Amino acid sequence: MFITINRRTIIAILICVLIVGGVCGTYFGVRASASPKPIHTIVIDAGHGGIDGGAVGKVTGVDESHINLEYAQTLKALCENFGIGVTMTRSDMNGLYDVTASNKKRSDMERRRQIIESSNADLVVSIHMNSYPLPSAHGAQVFYAQGAGSGKRLADLVQTEIVRAIPSARKTSSVGDYYMLNCTEKPSIIVECGFLSNPEEEKMLVSEEYRTTLCYSILSGILQYYDM
Ligand SMILES: [Zn+2]
Repeated sequence: MFITINRRTIIAILICVLIVGGVCGTYFGVRASASPKPIHTIVIDAGHGGIDGGAVGKVTGVDESHINLEYAQTLKALCENFGIGVTMTRSDMNGLYDVTASNKKRSDMERRRQIIESSNADLVVSIHMNSYPLPSAHGAQVFYAQGAGSGKRLADLVQTEIVRAIPSARKTSSVGDYYMLNCTEKPSIIVECGFLSNPEEEKMLVSEEYRTTLCYSILSGILQYYDM
């Protein structure tokens, strides 16, 4: 049996292909390949990694380093959807230290600083999960460096958005004396997403719903910081 295809049929098929291609291209991010360089770029730092697992969940036994990476990757995807460029300090479960270094923690932190300084990012978001001996301690909180005007502004915007979405969060951001805040002149915040030492909060922290809500809140604060 022969199927005859005339010119009108071919043109109709081509139009369909172009329309479907255009729609799918928009939905599946093909558009991004043609988009210009992002105006804003940020560093997302997933805390810990490698031999340094960070805090450990009392209920699930999950390592902080693992959850940090999940949150960092979720935040990266959300930011990129809004045209914000992202440089990650780590994209897998390995630490950033030189394996031959005698002080691996220092080596790891120094590498993070190098990535921040060699990037063209204009701010830094470091992702961590908190832990405290008292199991009742709870609440997501954002930290910034003492005297950091832009860092405080960013921290306040992100904290406000987190509180809006997550009622159990701490009400205000706070000064923190941490390497990731002090190692750069760029506005830098640490988001402690919740307490792994609190069984109820741990259950929330490992859920996709909490992770997505929290990462959206961080993105929302960043967009306000950029007046986007
Ligand atoms: Zn941590």
